[in-house]
Amino acid sequence: MSISNGSGGTLLETPLIPQRAEKLRPVSTSGSKKILLAAPRGYCAGVDRAVIAVEKALERFGAPVYVRKQIVHNIHVVRELEARGVIFVDEVADVPPGSNIVFSAHGVSPAVVQQAADRELNAIDATCPLVTKVHREAVRFSGQDYHILLIGHEGHEEVEGTMGHAPENTTLVNDPEEASRIEPPETENLIWLSQTTLSVDETMETVRRLRERFPHLQDPPSDDICYATQNRQVAIKKIAPECDLVIVVGSPNSSNSVRLVEVALEYGAKASYRVDYASEIEQAWLEGVETIGVTSGASVPEVLVDHALADLSDAGFTVVEEVRTAEEDLQFSLPKELRKDASGVVDPSTIGGRNRT
Ligand code: SF4
Repeated sequence: MSISNGSGGTLLETPLIPQRAEKLRPVSTSGSKKILLAAPRGYCAGVDRAVIAVEKALERFGAPVYVRKQIVHNIHVVRELEARGVIFVDEVADVPPGSNIVFSAHGVSPAVVQQAADRELNAIDATCPLVTKVHREAVRFSGQDYHILLIGHEGHEEVEGTMGHAPENTTLVNDPEEASRIEPPETENLIWLSQTTLSVDETMETVRRLRERFPHLQDPPSDDICYATQNRQVAIKKIAPECDLVIVVGSPNSSNSVRLVEVALEYGAKASYRVDYASEIEQAWLEGVETIGVTSGASVPEVLVDHALADLSDAGFTVVEEVRTAEEDLQFSLPKELRKDASGVVDPSTIGGRNRT
């Protein structure tokens, strides 16, 4: 069985993707109906690398392969990998000694690495290299007697991993409001770093408020908010003013997906909703709508966007115009533990990732 993708082609129906009970119905509008499809969208280089790392680990070691936390914050990716023999755990202590474990793209603290070594696990570190860069900055500045103001969301795995690299010398700053309240130790050596998936605008506001209180606050050596987060926000800023509705495909625990909804509303979209699956798009959202913006977070496979476009075509949104604001061709090598085959020969297929949007 297959479904139309709205542009004459067909998509294979994946059993793990929930189907809607009833098709969306065409809505009547006074003007023409169209979709502005943001680009770049979807998979970033770090997510692509992490997912391929798990697939390679399955190929090389067989099931089960354990993964600490969700490998990337997307429920569909997690369900697909579970169906192939991956077991997701919250903590290293949940993994039988001697097993294979992959650390997620969001990174881990040194304490977690040590726990894995203590259990004699074969650990494969799929931390995104751009998160590792922030870890290194935390270690370096902490070692130079700086106090770090880490802008990020409490409880997010990436924040826990980064704080774990300099636990004594880091104060977390959740948002601009908290920037006005925090009381870091008194020091001339104060620097801010950030989570990679924040809103660029909100982070700059947090920094502005911090600098009002701490004029000597130093900037990080380079952007911590990663290229993928920034590019997806720039693309949505471009289309949002023209959109009656922006649909962001992404999971609720995906920080960069949630930020895209916020940015769309901030930049003029009349409404914006996040959905994991096309089947969550509600008929009521489409009433009176002429232009729909569509994008997806950095951990979202393109097939989920294809399904959203197919469902929206049932409602009469058959014209799809891609609006591209940047080209992306970054690729990361796989984790070093997977670059060589069992006999020690470098496997050329472990360099770089799949094609991305
Ligand atoms: S969103 Fe950015 S930091 Fe996170 S995995 Fe992708 S490239 Fe890496």
